[in-house]
Amino acid sequence: MHTSTATLPPRILLATSNPGKLREFSSLLAPLGVELVPQESLNIPAAEEPYPSFVENALAKARHAARASGLPALADDSGLCVEALDGAPGVRSARFAGENASDEDNNAQLLEAILACPADASRRAFYCCVLAFVRDADDPCPVISEGRWHGEITTIVRGSNGFGYDPLFYLPELQQTAAELDPAIKNVLSHRSLALTDMVQRLLRTLPVI
Ligand code: IMP
Repeated sequence: MHTSTATLPPRILLATSNPGKLREFSSLLAPLGVELVPQESLNIPAAEEPYPSFVENALAKARHAARASGLPALADDSGLCVEALDGAPGVRSARFAGENASDEDNNAQLLEAILACPADASRRAFYCCVLAFVRDADDPCPVISEGRWHGEITTIVRGSNGFGYDPLFYLPELQQTAAELDPAIKNVLSHRSLALTDMVQRLLRTLPVI
């Protein structure tokens, strides 16, 4: 039986311009000897995200980044899915209140949508993060991972940590919103952290390449 030790590529293009994500992703991948190259440092413009699912958008971003850089690439797509809203805002999370909407605009839109639901509608929700890794732009076997962080939507805005919908994302077992959590705790519990841990395990299982 073939039992070679998996090695990860030494340099992977990270298809994001968000410094927080770069820090989070680097802290898990650096101990494995992987240098993450931020897309911005190579002046690669962001890809379009026109698809109806997180996985399609993440894959489009990864292929775009690999094509432009010539490096293996890792990309993410994430958002909030609310049960009472049939999964909205979903892939439209960043622009729920319109193109270029601020976090405050999106939170106000979410509150309005939730308050327009019947009183007994489910407030359950989850953050979803999908990661896509491609060895090159035309990789026929991308590696895909997913993380979900479950909670519920509160109508009382609380907390000032985090970003996006965190002040409305309530964790019943912790009795705090995500915006009240210590950032170090959020980094362990979050959908991104779960997806990244899953991705690292998949990469170690899947590589070396074919
Ligand atoms: P992105 O694709 O990861 O940049 O996220 C898209 C949108 O999903 C963000 O603009 C936020 O509205 C929402 N989102 C994703 N992750 C989080 C999170 O950890 N907290 C709050 N909002 C988030």
